Amino acid sequence: MKFAATGLAAVLALTAVPVMAKPKPAPVAAAMPVEDQAAALRDDALKSNVAYDFLSELTTRFGPRPAGSDRERQAAEWSATQLKALGFQNVHIETFPLHVWARGGPETIAITGEFAQPLVGVSLGGSTAGSVEGEAVMYDTWQAFLDSKADVTGKIVVILQSMAKASNGSGYGRMSGTVRAKGPVEAQKRGAVGFVMRSLSTDGDRFAHAGASIWSDGKGIPAMAISAPDASQLGRIEALQKAGKAGPLRLQMTTTGQFLGLRTSQNVVADLVGTEKPEEVIVVGGHLDSWDQGTGAIDDGAGIAITMAAAKVMIDHNFKPKRTIRVVFWGSEEVSQPAGDTTETGGGAFREAHKSELANYVAHAESDFGADKINNFSLSPTDDAAFVTKLGNLLYPLGIYNDAKATPEGGEDSGAMNGFVPAFDLNQDGYRYFDTHHTPNDTLDRVDPQQLNQNVAAWTATLWLMANTDIRFKLPLKDEK
Ligand SMILES: [Zn+2]
Repeated sequence: MKFAATGLAAVLALTAVPVMAKPKPAPVAAAMPVEDQAAALRDDALKSNVAYDFLSELTTRFGPRPAGSDRERQAAEWSATQLKALGFQNVHIETFPLHVWARGGPETIAITGEFAQPLVGVSLGGSTAGSVEGEAVMYDTWQAFLDSKADVTGKIVVILQSMAKASNGSGYGRMSGTVRAKGPVEAQKRGAVGFVMRSLSTDGDRFAHAGASIWSDGKGIPAMAISAPDASQLGRIEALQKAGKAGPLRLQMTTTGQFLGLRTSQNVVADLVGTEKPEEVIVVGGHLDSWDQGTGAIDDGAGIAITMAAAKVMIDHNFKPKRTIRVVFWGSEEVSQPAGDTTETGGGAFREAHKSELANYVAHAESDFGADKINNFSLSPTDDAAFVTKLGNLLYPLGIYNDAKATPEGGEDSGAMNGFVPAFDLNQDGYRYFDTHHTPNDTLDRVDPQQLNQNVAAWTATLWLMANTDIRFKLPLKDEK
């Protein structure tokens, strides 16, 4: 499935090279200005298959990689071997403990009684295993549920609110931290025996989207997301109820996920060690773990493949950065959301383990928004306007502009260093990301190799410029501690 990409098409026309040709480093004089070197890396990245090949083998070999699972650990060990073979230095695995949640087997949700029929659902991360049947109380929005004074004791709360589709993913952020994170606990507080929500989804496929909710120590209630078409079906039943044409809706749900206790997860760390200022580190990466329904191609095998390949292009040119470029394959991103600031995430564990070094770190960023093209970049404040202009000029041929108004935040993992290390962002087009995100449809088939390479080109040029300058970025004002 191809995605229209006018900007990228323009780039490919400009560079006039076959995208899938074998990588062959262009001859580049060491005495070239840094921005010319960065441009050479950028153009070479457009011809490379490294990211796609890595992503293909990772997703094929390991499939789903839930946080704290054997598959996540095996994928981490395999990744470390690959990184060493690709020429990275200091490759190692850093383990950390986390409370592991896992689905135990098939789950079901169905309407019983008057409208009896099966629905498509998946339990939310953190849900309790259990089987409940009860009257459903439906709310059109999360706010309507919060405002409602209705007694839901012994009932199943259903939130039918749909998610807005937007290139920057703003519709997701608005709802993942509210209805999905807090819904189950809030419903339980009011006496409900189950919680159901419309998936955080922007397409009409009959897949339910998994995702984390605030966990409840195994004492919570069964909580599920249903597919968008199933939520629409319940909405029509609600309309019939309001018209006096239908009685109460009854649902039966069986969930199998539960917490398995304290286990371990791990970050895979690999460096291109800086030749002049090795202690000045730029941390980039993506997360290796994934939800259990798909093979974690767009979320987030693509992110680790993109950032790894960006550094690999430098290795292929025998380009050695002055500052250290550190690529981290973060562990345990998914189930830990939305707990945020915890050491049971790859990001939180890394921050704690490396706290004494962070004052020297120069910048952090993450690729964790799929595999589609990058639209814009944002940098932490710097006094060096010429640097920002140089980067803008380098990325412009890729169809990428400077979003000067945005405050960079890094990713869900690297963002654990916000307040300590300045962030920068290379923002991807997320218009179709939430069509697939956290579903069985998150597979390699959704990845467009040309757009993936546009990402690698942007990352390699950006990193080369940042790793070979003396300028220091600053923390955004709101981040200063
Ligand atoms: Zn992700």
